[in-house]
Amino acid sequence: MDYLPVFLRLEAAPVVVVGGGEVALRKAQWLLKAGAQVTLIAPELHAALSHYALDAALTHRACHFTPAALEGAVAVVAATADRAVNAAVAAAAQARRIPVNVVDDAQLSSFIFPAIIDRSPLIVAVSSAGHAPVLARSVREQIEALLPARLGALARFMGRYRAQVRHALRAAGRRAFWERIVRGPVAREVLRGRETAAASALRRELRTSQLTTPAGEPAGVLGEVYLIGAGPGDPDLLTLRALQLLQQADVILYDRLVGEEVLERARRDAERIFVGKESGERGQQERIHRLLLELALAGKRVARLKGGDPFVFGRGGEELEVLRAHGIPFTVVPGITAALGAAASSGLPLTQRGVAHSVTFVTGHGEGGAALEWRYFAQPEHTVVFYMGVAQLPAIIARLRAAGAAASHPVALIERATLPEQRLLRGTLADLAERAQAAQVQAPALLIVGAVAALASADELSAFSLPPPARALA
Ligand code: SAH
Repeated sequence: MDYLPVFLRLEAAPVVVVGGGEVALRKAQWLLKAGAQVTLIAPELHAALSHYALDAALTHRACHFTPAALEGAVAVVAATADRAVNAAVAAAAQARRIPVNVVDDAQLSSFIFPAIIDRSPLIVAVSSAGHAPVLARSVREQIEALLPARLGALARFMGRYRAQVRHALRAAGRRAFWERIVRGPVAREVLRGRETAAASALRRELRTSQLTTPAGEPAGVLGEVYLIGAGPGDPDLLTLRALQLLQQADVILYDRLVGEEVLERARRDAERIFVGKESGERGQQERIHRLLLELALAGKRVARLKGGDPFVFGRGGEELEVLRAHGIPFTVVPGITAALGAAASSGLPLTQRGVAHSVTFVTGHGEGGAALEWRYFAQPEHTVVFYMGVAQLPAIIARLRAAGAAASHPVALIERATLPEQRLLRGTLADLAERAQAAQVQAPALLIVGAVAALASADELSAFSLPPPARALA
């Protein structure tokens, strides 16, 4: 280890920054955040720095660096564009045994600035000891994405209860208690911004813990369920919250629409259970309900991962009812539903001024719908997205035509949207069924009907289209 990572208290401590440019500005901002008394030495200042100086947040000395400027400083930063000046600052600091950082020069520095993730009071610092700052920043970005925005609030919340918990529980039970807080519903409530609910949940936990043996787990710790939308397929379309909870889950129940690439983003040692519904398989939904209950009652954190959004043709509502009925804590994480994924990946706006002003998501299962409703679907200025419609294409087309849609009514069929194998067929009600059959379009695919369909990117299925009619061959 080339450097010891430590966290330095700088509140009201004098720190000297030499330089007046953008780099000096960035360092001065971090120092000011930590409460340091910053003196800036530079003949001229960057516009934003002079703003700080005017605000009296820092002191500016409009002069060149001389070693005397370091008098009383607890740390120095050399951030000029002039190597000779930076070297002189480093030499003067080292002679006085004052810690010095020379920006982008680990050789001359006795301390370095890490890449920082600030969820104060929780702070993560990443460093490559000057070998690869870009790598350190990339690691920071990856961690940043995994840490919930309100983590700082959680740290403060826990801090407020420390004394009370120390008083209430013996040392042996305390650690297990805090682990349950961090992993369980209390943390989840704080991270959602609901501190009052979190406070009552914490008090309940505390009472339970006091009733159990100091070393042991309290009897019957309840798990919880995360109902997570995995998006349309491309793993980069997972939400940050989905990623965070996938990193915490002990068990993952996933559907057929959830691909391997998405599952790879979950905790490595989480148990995976496939609960996809093969068509015709009865009782599968009941099996899922049973599994959710069993696992949560056994204290597990269960991620129920569904394609798209859990509340759009995902039966998420039914699963929630079961959890509610048994008092199991849950969190719902929305996902990008297939319609939105497909619209984006085929350049097809679902609404557009002057073209379409409303949109309906409907199941193509053929569950009927009133004639009136179909007349509405047949209007080109209304966009309709049919889910699960591939097998029903001829029936859907016939119904739209019967409801008054023209043969030239634009349509787009998007297969495996957002995935590398995505295929797009853009056409009209007149030619759609035949062409889809010729191209052997398969589920999962979405049918988008309405004037906006004509705005989709170029047809990618032309290569699969029908051979020219016999007449043309003659
Ligand atoms: N909850 C999901 C929908 C589940 S229903 C969501 O919000 O997206 C299953 C149907 O979704 C499929 O039959 C298909 O019509 C559609 N679908 C899901 N993923 C898709 C994808 N990547 N491309 C096209 N359609 C998709």
